[in-house]
Amino acid sequence: MPELPEVETVRRGLEPVLEGARIIWAEARRPDLRFPFPEKFAERLTGKTITALGRRAKYLTMDLEGGPALICHLGMSGSFRIETADAAEMPGVFHHERSKSSAHDHVIFDVASRDGTCSRVVFNDPRRFGFMLFCEGPPDTHPMLAGLGVEPTGNALDGVLLASLLKGRKSPLKAALLDQRLIAGLGNIYVSEALWRAGLSPLREAGTIAKAGKKAGEQSRGLAVAVRSVIADAIAAGGSSLRDYMQTDGSLGYFQHSFAVYDREGEPCSKPGCGGHIERITQSGRSTFYCRTCQR
Ligand code: ZN
Repeated sequence: MPELPEVETVRRGLEPVLEGARIIWAEARRPDLRFPFPEKFAERLTGKTITALGRRAKYLTMDLEGGPALICHLGMSGSFRIETADAAEMPGVFHHERSKSSAHDHVIFDVASRDGTCSRVVFNDPRRFGFMLFCEGPPDTHPMLAGLGVEPTGNALDGVLLASLLKGRKSPLKAALLDQRLIAGLGNIYVSEALWRAGLSPLREAGTIAKAGKKAGEQSRGLAVAVRSVIADAIAAGGSSLRDYMQTDGSLGYFQHSFAVYDREGEPCSKPGCGGHIERITQSGRSTFYCRTCQR
């Protein structure tokens, strides 16, 4: 499933083509994905200018002149493909391979950019867990987005805020970090990676890093830095891989080669001087990868 860095990479890949462009043709090729398409979907998009392409957590948001806003989610397997007169390009870096079969091309946007270049943007989604919805007001007001927590990308997430979010929580630290009402858009892969960077066990009680005192203060600060840096590094890797798209095919990016723990069960821990090994455990039905030697 694409996580926040992949969605942000997709947004950055689409931005030059979509922002400021006018939708000259839109088409939904089936009545639904995870949810039915909104009524008059294509009709309401056609002729509209896209004033901004944004992202909140794992949602892409498209502001349209005169409204509504379009909210898109990639689901498990959704991807966008940009087709111009002489090339096809698929923005984004994904841990799992993406479909290029046109049988799963479900939504088409033909757009004309400000300089008059025409492009086709295709949404492909074999498993159909993705969706597109309209929001009559600003995207942040949609019920799916309104309750989301802080973004893990900016300076807003610091040690003090993280401690206040985790204070008194009895759940395992990993489960608390996956709670979208606390931090929005953090998923299974990057939580494992951030906890390893911070040297904190995914099993420890979340509230323990929010206690009074120097040690807890250092831990919450260290974890906030780890969360932000792991997301920033993944976005940077997506961006650089995007430039190499034509050579690398884009279906598998290379941030996965930078995973320190994710999918590395049995391998030696790469933290200098640790000597431990990466283990896989199951928490709330999902895999957690960690090193019990250096993550306490
Ligand atoms: Zn270790």
